[in-house]
Amino acid sequence: MKKFEALGLNKPLIDAVSDLGFENPSEVQEKAIPILLENDTDLVALAQTGTGKTAAFGFPLIQKIDSSSRTTQGLILSPTRELCLQITNELKLYSKYVKGLNTVAIYGGASISEQANQIKRGAQIVVATPGRMKDMIGRRMVDISKIDYCVLDEADEMLNMGFYEDIKDILANTPEEKLTWLFSATMPKEVSVIAKKFMHNPKEITVGTKNAGTSTVQHEYYVVGGRDRYPALKRLADTNPDIFSVVFCRTKRDTQKVAEKLIEDGYNAGALHGDLSQNQRDLVMNAFRKKQIQMLVATDVAARGIDVDDITHVINYQLPDEIETYTHRSGRTGRAGKSGISMVIVTRSELRKIKSIENKIQQKFISKKIPTGMEICEIQLYHLASKIRDTKINEEVDGYLPAINDVLKDIDREELIKKIISVEFTRFYNYYNKSKDLNTTDGEGRGERRKDRNSRGEQSSNGSVRYFINVGEKDNYDWMSLKDFLKDTLNLDRDAVYKVDVKDSFSFFNTDAEHTENILQTFSDFKVDGRFVNVEVSKNPGGGGGRGGRDRGRGGKGRDRKRDKRRDRKSSYSKSEGAGNSGKRRSKRRDGFF
Ligand code: ADP
Ligand code: MG
Repeated sequence: MKKFEALGLNKPLIDAVSDLGFENPSEVQEKAIPILLENDTDLVALAQTGTGKTAAFGFPLIQKIDSSSRTTQGLILSPTRELCLQITNELKLYSKYVKGLNTVAIYGGASISEQANQIKRGAQIVVATPGRMKDMIGRRMVDISKIDYCVLDEADEMLNMGFYEDIKDILANTPEEKLTWLFSATMPKEVSVIAKKFMHNPKEITVGTKNAGTSTVQHEYYVVGGRDRYPALKRLADTNPDIFSVVFCRTKRDTQKVAEKLIEDGYNAGALHGDLSQNQRDLVMNAFRKKQIQMLVATDVAARGIDVDDITHVINYQLPDEIETYTHRSGRTGRAGKSGISMVIVTRSELRKIKSIENKIQQKFISKKIPTGMEICEIQLYHLASKIRDTKINEEVDGYLPAINDVLKDIDREELIKKIISVEFTRFYNYYNKSKDLNTTDGEGRGERRKDRNSRGEQSSNGSVRYFINVGEKDNYDWMSLKDFLKDTLNLDRDAVYKVDVKDSFSFFNTDAEHTENILQTFSDFKVDGRFVNVEVSKNPGGGGGRGGRDRGRGGKGRDRKRDKRRDRKSSYSKSEGAGNSGKRRSKRRDGFF
């Protein structure tokens, strides 16, 4: 590992580095800094979030800029206000020993004339969001016609957010001979287009593995009756016990109401919309970052600044009016090399929109069914069993063991397991036991596209078999790799295995019935890495649920809160969706809800 001195940084920067307490350069810094210092070249650098990209471009930029001239020489474009401020603060720290160097942030939601004044006083480096930048160019408040360096930071994110046209317009105001440095966590098609179009023979560096970005998002839709949106949303959450999601609604009012309902029903939810004060929004965002909130219900505008990387699901409670907006929504997940799912709850009359979105994003949707009550029970059951298995034993219970043993002494192991599981399971069971199927048929003509849909309709009762398998995300499977594993192990065609839903420590999949014997036989005594891999036929033929559910190492506090809240769930469930027992007050409220 090279030290910072060896990268060619000058004294003012080295001094700042030592003040910051950075001991060694990160990988992207080690690779990018020498290239940028020694060459006048364009650069494409791919590195995950948190790898130190700001210094990777910031150090060379600061060193190359002539701080004795007041001309704006460097422009950094970044997707959100938060990132813009973050970069500006970092650059100020980096350049604290560089005399006369001024870095100014320009972004929306703050006084434009104040920002224009700061620029007027002289800013060699401008850090900007594309929207505000374009605005200020239009008003001649900033001059970028003489810049030498342009940095596109978080390029994938900027494109995800629909800033392509803005970026193009901004670049049209910069000199042809400037150098462009593009930094991105992922390399979706759109980013390579930018690289081709606006850059000249860029050098490329990659830290970690490259990935295709947007293709890591799976798009799914669920057709329900208009009144069933809310119960459908709850089921999607219950199918994915470890969900960490953004739920999009169209209006501030719906956003607030859905969040309130979820909270009332015992979910860790929060609302994010423009009627909240900045302070309230910060509180919600902090809780979300800490994963104390698992379902963040948001409007499109409010969700723009969300810079959280491990969102597992985006749920479109309602479809947006603009197709573009859908792209921005689904781009909240599948970031930083992770996979994600974008779910859409639609009514039959909205199915046309799915088609137009498919055309626009050039990706197919999978038609999925809202899981039945019994499917959810099964998933919760396995989830609970794995949770018990993985629970760290609290040594404090030791002292109480004799007394506890005494209470439980007449119960044998099998009975004990049944009882432990029933403590939690009965709650779900009672709630879902007689619940109705929420799915409406999704119209003709769409049923043919994928194997997994054929099996849903006429075929599901006779031809398709659903299996439980005791491996999941914990064993490093995602739906694609599990599908590959099954197909290879069983010597089947790729299409023979479908509806692969990977949960945390177990999964489900389907095949046609003709393969069942072979499958059960193969896995009757099958080990991977010394561990038995076990397959059983699932009691539920379905498989409408998502494939999410990963362990996100939620802090102890969050878990406790969740458990406490869930304890209350039964009563709120039966209040809000239960069969015919909703109190008067409640039914009144429900009437007012959509
Ligand atoms: P990225 O833009 O890749 O997401 P940042 O540039 O924001 O990452 O850096 C993430 C954090 O790591 C920042 O708090 C930054 O100060 C810190 N950091 C950057 N480089 C180093 C380093 N070489 N050693 C220690 N910390 C670093
Ligand atoms: Mg960054």
